[in-house]
Amino acid sequence: MTNKVAILGGGASAIMCAIKASLSSNITIFEKSAKLGKKILATGNGRCNLANKYMNKHSYNIDLSNYLKRYSVQSVLKYFQDIGLEYYFDEENRAYPISNSANSVRDVLLNALNQNKNINVKYGKTFVDIKKIDNKYQVFFDDNTSETFDKVVVALGNETNLDVFKKLNIIVEGFKPSLCSLKTMPNKNLGGIRVSNVKVLCELGNINFEETGEILFKENAISGIVIFNLSCHLARKNVKNIDFFIDFLPKFNKNELFLYLKSRKELLGEYLCKDFLCGVFVGALADLFMSGAKINPAQKVINISDKQLSALVDLIKNHKFTMMGYENNNQVMSGGVLIDELDENLQSKANSGLYFVGEAVNVDGVCGGYNLMWAWISAMIVSECL
Ligand SMILES: Cc1cc2nc3c(=O)[nH]c(=O)nc-3n(C[C@H](O)[C@H](O)[C@H](O)COP(=O)(O)OP(=O)(O)OC[C@H]3O[C@@H](n4cnc5c(N)ncnc54)[C@H](O)[C@@H]3O)c2cc1C
Repeated sequence: MTNKVAILGGGASAIMCAIKASLSSNITIFEKSAKLGKKILATGNGRCNLANKYMNKHSYNIDLSNYLKRYSVQSVLKYFQDIGLEYYFDEENRAYPISNSANSVRDVLLNALNQNKNINVKYGKTFVDIKKIDNKYQVFFDDNTSETFDKVVVALGNETNLDVFKKLNIIVEGFKPSLCSLKTMPNKNLGGIRVSNVKVLCELGNINFEETGEILFKENAISGIVIFNLSCHLARKNVKNIDFFIDFLPKFNKNELFLYLKSRKELLGEYLCKDFLCGVFVGALADLFMSGAKINPAQKVINISDKQLSALVDLIKNHKFTMMGYENNNQVMSGGVLIDELDENLQSKANSGLYFVGEAVNVDGVCGGYNLMWAWISAMIVSECL
């Protein structure tokens, strides 16, 4: 007999799960909004970074090797090709649709979905509760309706009503913003400035975060992929306040930078100090370093002391910023149903027939296509069991 299956939520993982399972099951997707896969359109700045060629142990908060060995990146991308998507890898091994438009990813998924007569989509249905009755699940919606299913797949992303699942004896971790800008003290005059090739460092107990990339100063925050990745590590550890450091010239060590600044002092000796770092850093950043080193902008460069040069080196190589919270421009949330609560098929150990996919599970990845990869792979794994 064909299983009657409910998929709660209509995002990336739900659509993939429905397409892959539809040959064996009778599926109903319940989506609260009027569209499926809306978030896909916002991904990768509208281009959708749908996967990454390489995974390593730092790609996710937990070791997913048991799941990832069942579906490789290549097999996921091959499946996308089979449903009509052409893709390419950029220089950082991130996969994008060849159209450079996230619409293409959503379109091929929806086209594949529409080929299947076994999939019914109900829009405007907000899931609110679930009850286990014998071997079936009764699912409740905010319009006071309910339906009963043999199997239920929870694909509600980071909006999963975790308290509802706690009642089914499932252990969860509350959602916290991740992959977002970090709030800092006001960055005087730096708002809007981008700086490339900086190294961001932060001591996090067992992990020493160290990553090089571009940052973007906002008035009361710092953004950029490298900061997003730092935020992901901080969120996982529930850090609310911490110092982190930026090396603005990682290609020099401290000694080399001191010697370089000393030779620059000889070269530009007659200039005013306000122009000393001009040509190396944009104005506001140069001003920040010069005022930090207590160098009078109106004096001549030749008068800068060795002590002031050393202070400049410290400010450039080891500039301290204090993280004071997370901005709510997060791409994902860390948290969800603990993976230890699920078996190798992502089925609740305590509730057979109840599955979790995508961001509903306490799995979060760094920037680079890893979160969508998890959405696709977790959906494919569950689809085999429906
Ligand atoms: C701006 C932005 C950019 C991103 N860029 C990337 C990227 O380039 N690469 C990458 O790998 N990841 C990216 N991500 C993360 C990625 O989008 C998510 O990890 C992924 O969409 C998770 O898929 P999901 O199916 O678990 O959840 P979602 O895609 O969030 O789907 C959940 C669905 O459930 C529905 N829903 C929620 N609550 C209810 C309810 N009570 N009843 C019924 N329906 C409900 C929602 O409307 C939604 O349609 C980005 C995220 C954002 C916000």
